[in-house]
Amino acid sequence: MNFEKSRTEMVFQLRKLGIIQTDAVADAMLTIPRHFFIPHSHQNQAYQDHPISIGHGQTISAPHMNAMMCEHLDVHPGMQILEIGTGSGYHTALLRHLVGPSGKIFSIERILSLAENAQKIFKALKFNNISVIVDDGTIGCQEHAPYDRILVTAVGPTIPQPFIDQLSEENGKICIPVGDRNCDQILWLGNKRGDHFHKSRICGVRFVPLIGKYGFEK
Ligand code: SAH
Repeated sequence: MNFEKSRTEMVFQLRKLGIIQTDAVADAMLTIPRHFFIPHSHQNQAYQDHPISIGHGQTISAPHMNAMMCEHLDVHPGMQILEIGTGSGYHTALLRHLVGPSGKIFSIERILSLAENAQKIFKALKFNNISVIVDDGTIGCQEHAPYDRILVTAVGPTIPQPFIDQLSEENGKICIPVGDRNCDQILWLGNKRGDHFHKSRICGVRFVPLIGKYGFEK
């Protein structure tokens, strides 16, 4: 299997569809080896545009969803980002590419073995400015707030208040799916300026549930 060729083709298609719009996101998706983050049994599907099971009832999002969220979040070098739902770690790695070596990523995952697996891959890729935290991410991470960007890759019933509180007042942006556990989910882009928070609808989506204090019950 020629992973590099498949990766180039994936990015070409996502650009053609208008989902990848910037060189920065194209470059991130061309650079990060998505197959590293996929279980061996499914690695031949790594560059196909659909979600894949990563165990524990969780999934790595489809590449078009990774791309769309990165584009809307508008990530720049040097930013500090909070991610909720490390999962496979693929999206975390894309964010790391976008913020570069001078940025900082805090990524929270509630399932220990997923967090450990992602950490191993970050180490192999020599990404030393990603901190993976094993906890309930719905309370955010006050210790390192404020964040320039917050990415949430699991669906909650509402936008947890701690995320809004911990977002930077200087054009902070959050991308988060909100809705029911299994259907009727909307992806939102939230923007904070001063104490004003405004959200706009991106599209309908399908994510696994955000489980925790400000999310769904287990
Ligand atoms: N971005 C990931 C998507 C993983 S699926 C990827 O590209 O692979 C969503 C993840 O959110 C799952 O791993 C799930 O365990 C995690 N999750 C759900 N509720 C959470 C919570 N309250 N805190 C942290 N992680 C949570």
